[in-house]
Amino acid sequence: MTDGFGRKIDYLRLSITDRCNLRCRYCMPEEVPFVPHGDILRYEEMVRVCAAAARLGVDTIKVTGGEPLARKGCAGLVAALKAVPGIRKVTLTTNGVLLAQQLPRLLSAGLDGVNISLDTLDREAYRRLTGRDELPRALDGLEAALAAGVRTKINAVPLAETGREGLLALAALAETRPVDVRFIELMPVGHGSELAPFGQNALLAALKERWPGLAPTDEKRGNGPARYWIAPELKGAVGFISAVSHEFCAHCNRVRLTSEGFLKLCLCYGDGVDLRAPLRGGASEAELEELLRQAVLQKPARHSFGKGRAPEGRIMSQIGG
Ligand code: SAM
Ligand code: SF4
Repeated sequence: MTDGFGRKIDYLRLSITDRCNLRCRYCMPEEVPFVPHGDILRYEEMVRVCAAAARLGVDTIKVTGGEPLARKGCAGLVAALKAVPGIRKVTLTTNGVLLAQQLPRLLSAGLDGVNISLDTLDREAYRRLTGRDELPRALDGLEAALAAGVRTKINAVPLAETGREGLLALAALAETRPVDVRFIELMPVGHGSELAPFGQNALLAALKERWPGLAPTDEKRGNGPARYWIAPELKGAVGFISAVSHEFCAHCNRVRLTSEGFLKLCLCYGDGVDLRAPLRGGASEAELEELLRQAVLQKPARHSFGKGRAPEGRIMSQIGG
């Protein structure tokens, strides 16, 4: 699919639930109204949308949430997506807490990679940030993924409260393990504007002080906009995904499907197209494709982050990141 600005759209972020077993303060408040079960797409409905998108050129699906592993049968969905003609890669983003337990099934289903969200290695800081004392299980998930040899990345949102040493400890995972550690700039979506970020420039300076050989690389290591840095001492790389301070909209390749079946065109805005009603109202495959094609033409040129709170009214757990 090509959007109205000539950008090729080949990547779909598929949110399979708005529920989560953590409560990261920048993402999801303790008491949040959940979408009623009947309004969440069934897996077959999600696969239908992905198959239509695949016929239009989408070849990569990222399964997200809420916490995707909190929805029963995630591995079965991965297997069904991998069987869709045209889908080359299916990866997962997870907080890792349920990963060790589900990894064997996910790998048998053909999962191509996993991103584990981990913002601190300090158990008490993790509990304060996520509302749950689950760091040990999240780390078990990470170790299980590394032991299995599946392509693994760590996504960390650098926060002022984590501090320089806390962030360096996270980056050091790339020293001891073959894993890329990516720092994702805090975005003013939902509750993201309520926490103080750790500045990307200050973080890069701290990383360079710790690993003086750190140098940028153009090597492509993922599906998206991360800029990577490597050093002789590092087995993995450190990456930055800086949507706000280093806008990459000109190269945007993605759309998002919420668990309710709403096709979202840009993270920043609430606009998009409801696909649940046509899915449940008997739309044909050709009609579904046409809806997708027309929707993608409405994709905005760029976000407006940095100009106050994002116009999107959904919180991040309802979008999928
Ligand atoms: N629960 C899964 C996880 O944590 O990976 C998948 C969903 S979560 C919404 C996806 C990603 O969005 C996580 O890496 C999380 O850190 C990130 N995220 C949530 N709110 C954010 C915000 N306001 N700014 C930047 N990233 C955010
Ligand atoms: Fe849950 Fe992921 Fe949001 Fe944290 S970032 S509350 S793990 S959905």
